[in-house]
Amino acid sequence: MTSQMSDQNSLAFAQQQDEADPLKKFRERFLFPQHEGRDVVYFTGNSLGLQPKTVRESILQELDDWAAHGVEGHFEARRPWFPYHEILTEQAARLVGAKPVEVVVMNQLTVNLHLLLVSFYRPYGRRCKILCEHKAFPSDQYAMESHAVFHTYDPAEAIIEVKPREGEYAIRTEDILAAIEEHKDELALVLFGGVNYFTGQLFDMKTITAAAHKAGARAGFDLAHAAGNVELHLHDWNVDFACWCSYKYLNSGPGSVAGAFVHERHAKSELPRFAGWWGYDKTTRFKMEKGFIAMPGAEGWQLSNAPVFSMAAHKAALEIFDEAGMPALTAKSEKLTAYLERIIDEISATQPGGKKLEIITPRDKTQRGCQLSVVAHGRGKELFKQLLDNGVIVDWREPNVIRMAPVPLYNSFEDVWRFGETLKKALQS
Ligand SMILES: *Cc1c(COP(=O)(O)O)cnc(C)c1O
Repeated sequence: MTSQMSDQNSLAFAQQQDEADPLKKFRERFLFPQHEGRDVVYFTGNSLGLQPKTVRESILQELDDWAAHGVEGHFEARRPWFPYHEILTEQAARLVGAKPVEVVVMNQLTVNLHLLLVSFYRPYGRRCKILCEHKAFPSDQYAMESHAVFHTYDPAEAIIEVKPREGEYAIRTEDILAAIEEHKDELALVLFGGVNYFTGQLFDMKTITAAAHKAGARAGFDLAHAAGNVELHLHDWNVDFACWCSYKYLNSGPGSVAGAFVHERHAKSELPRFAGWWGYDKTTRFKMEKGFIAMPGAEGWQLSNAPVFSMAAHKAALEIFDEAGMPALTAKSEKLTAYLERIIDEISATQPGGKKLEIITPRDKTQRGCQLSVVAHGRGKELFKQLLDNGVIVDWREPNVIRMAPVPLYNSFEDVWRFGETLKKALQS
């Protein structure tokens, strides 16, 4: 078999692109796992982002301040622990297109989703259903199911999933809007992922939110695969609530602290919530009195005092995002992912009919971030294993999907080219 590769599928072309990349210096800020004496091709930043070199120092500072001050560190640490979450708010808000009052960093993702569902899934009468995407991330499915049960509904009836059409992988926006219209009298909430974890489809959050509101429902988004991956304008889009984790595209370390957004229009609302002392008005919190008085805005949903070590990691990671900026990151992301798409298509074209590599992520760049999901027809898990054995880190989802995310902060065009070379070799054997 001869392969018909374009000029672009060459090391020289990839290196030229890297030379011209205004973000190329950011790669040096990260620690790469090694394979045979060189950096792996790390395409799993959608699962666990790489460690910024500054994280170690940031955490050590808190360890040292704890050693030096003990409990006094709450006020005496270089970054005092008492208001620690506040040092993350502005950067996190910029990342998701929000006002500072709308954002808080706290807990972990599924916890935040539950807390926000408590407040924003308020079924009453006929208006008791949640509309969501087919095959939402399992944790989100369990969260929705358990809230349906908590409110004494049968999840099979209370949760409506919008599916892709027969033979398609992405869910059409028109079908989402039609489903909202069809169920408009029974919807309490529309809850979608920002980017679907499996297909990599980016949903039109602005349009979905407007349709949900028109139907009289609320709109929330799980941004686990969207935060740090695509540009977000949660405030302008009028989203009611959102939550995200910090360990995927945001590079803040395994299980690190998460984020939450509550739109400003709910900032002073009396929405019911599950409360804790850290959500209490901070000016009088330490009077330790009965009767909860919420902090205005997203901070009013906090439960506990700040987990300083994971926040220290998150702080170091957010600094990098702030410096690079989402507009520059998304501009590079589009090019890098388009390059990967091209290389996969060219390699697929050399494969016999039953063994094509089918990209199931939307081709339209407005409907995806940097992740591509590929169905390897007629191949099993050994293809994935061969990539791993050759220093290319992607992930495998049964039965035959390979997910890969060239992230603009630390991946290069050369990484994409090397991926292609490794893939070609793996397919030949
Ligand atoms: C990664 C991910 C999660 C994981 O939840 P944790 O609470 O952080 O373990 C949940 N939902 C979505 C959509 C995800 O992508």
